Amino acid sequence: MKLTNENLKQMFNHANRKYFNNELPNIPITWKKKLMRNGAVGECVFYRDDKKHPKKVTSVEIYLHTWLQDYPPYLIQTLLHEMVHLKLGVRVHHGKVFQKEIRRLVAVGAYDGIL
Ligand SMILES: [Zn+2]
Repeated sequence: MKLTNENLKQMFNHANRKYFNNELPNIPITWKKKLMRNGAVGECVFYRDDKKHPKKVTSVEIYLHTWLQDYPPYLIQTLLHEMVHLKLGVRVHHGKVFQKEIRRLVAVGAYDGIL
């Protein structure tokens, strides 16, 4: 069985409710065969399409590599990772703030049964 974009959205909504207090914005989340970074399995892209305000984020999208369709635990892990990027914003990478948020997710059971 192959998961659809709609399935992804349901997983996103579920995780948003359960682990993010439903505070993440309702953004597009889409399967993709080729991501921008070689070897990446997911990405959270912050678009800046306002020419008058080039630093302003105008929209955000999450893409997940179709490869993940065959690896459900890794899919959930990757989705949560990209949702953390969505929560923390464009300037935060994988440093202390990011790790703290991952540890929070572990503590509330987001990874139960998959890690
Ligand atoms: Zn990342």
